[in-house]
Amino acid sequence: MENFVVAIDGPAGSGKSTIAKIIANRYNFIYLDTGAMYRMVAYYFIENNIDLKDEKNIQKLIENIELDVENNKFFLNGEDVSEKIRTPKVNSIVSSVSAIKKIRIKLVEQQRKIGFNKKIILDGRDIGTVVFPNADIKIFLIASPEERANRRYKEYIEKGIKEDYQKVFEDIKKRDYLDSTREESPLVKANDAIEIDTSSMTIDEVVENISKYIDKKFDNPNIYVGKINL
Ligand code: C5P
Repeated sequence: MENFVVAIDGPAGSGKSTIAKIIANRYNFIYLDTGAMYRMVAYYFIENNIDLKDEKNIQKLIENIELDVENNKFFLNGEDVSEKIRTPKVNSIVSSVSAIKKIRIKLVEQQRKIGFNKKIILDGRDIGTVVFPNADIKIFLIASPEERANRRYKEYIEKGIKEDYQKVFEDIKKRDYLDSTREESPLVKANDAIEIDTSSMTIDEVVENISKYIDKKFDNPNIYVGKINL
């Protein structure tokens, strides 16, 4: 098979990137973390004190932003910002940045280019609905907000970032709200996506579950793998 697209969507902290990385390794797929691309733009806005409402200026700014992804390292105008984009500060504005239409148009175009004719797994919010609506496999990961906040909180502790649990929880709920109610490509499950609730599953269990669908489709590319709406 020449090209194969696995789309993994879901809210913050549902396990998308952890799972996607393991699957990419197992099947030798390219992995693209599309959230990191929106994070890079958010980071640029913070660093350059850009007003999110300054619509006129935004087009010009977008033209000045060059995003590169190499081996899961993220470069903003040549600078490796892989760590700097995963802070509470970036978390607090990224959903407002990603709601801007002009920014989405640019990033979606870049994501499609990266994925063209490849074996690739992408995670995000709109992969199965907008970026690759014809993806071979679409997965929608969910988990309770408490569990997702727990995961994010542990991640911060491991990285030595100090943040209050309650704040992490509120941030997750705020991003859920903004991501799923925005006008442009809101976070919604594609009709044909397979929903997996990871709240009480181990990482291995989720990986095995998704692998079964991928194997099925690999064995028989013409079969339909996804949810059947009756
Ligand atoms: O996946 P992650 O939590 O890193 O994404 C950060 C933010 O980027 C999300 O909260 C969302 O606002 C935005 N995003 C998006 N579309 C994507 C991926 C991420 O709008 N495909």
